[in-house]
Amino acid sequence: MNDYKKQWRIKNKEKIKEYNKQYRLKNKDKIDKWYEEHPNYNKTYQKNNKEKIKKQRKNYYQKTGKEKWENYYQKNRDRLLKNHQKKVKGYKKQWIKLINEHYGKIQCQRCGYKKIFRNIDFHHRDPKEKEYPISSFFANKPSQKRIEILKEEIKKCDMLCKICHGEHHYPKDFIDSWLL
Ligand SMILES: [Zn+2]
Repeated sequence: MNDYKKQWRIKNKEKIKEYNKQYRLKNKDKIDKWYEEHPNYNKTYQKNNKEKIKKQRKNYYQKTGKEKWENYYQKNRDRLLKNHQKKVKGYKKQWIKLINEHYGKIQCQRCGYKKIFRNIDFHHRDPKEKEYPISSFFANKPSQKRIEILKEEIKKCDMLCKICHGEHHYPKDFIDSWLL
């Protein structure tokens, strides 16, 4: 019976996937609400089953093998990369929102520029104090720990637009190329 079920699931893989997808779409609010009401569900489970999860992962990896994963990766490379990029984009958005809230607003502290985020640099006032570039946070999910580290790091920074930042680092003895 179990074998039959397994065969059925393999045969109808796409159908099941589509069904699950539709279910999630239809019940998005319900699912979101459930996770909102159980914010620690995943965390608690992971915490309580650390060894179990570790063992499962190890078993899975040994069973399927690196080769299988690599084959899968090669076959699905475009989709995986696209998903990854989408995820990172989402993280960056969350970080920008956090920084915006933290500062009040994101803009150049010298000239007030505030149009495009990528034109804003986080300039460390004292290079000796620099532990992480602010941009290095954006590819990862904003966890509570990372947010705390970012807040500490950002205290050491001035927000400057690319032009003001460039001016700041432009050697003063190149005076003949300064316009003013
Ligand atoms: Zn500026």
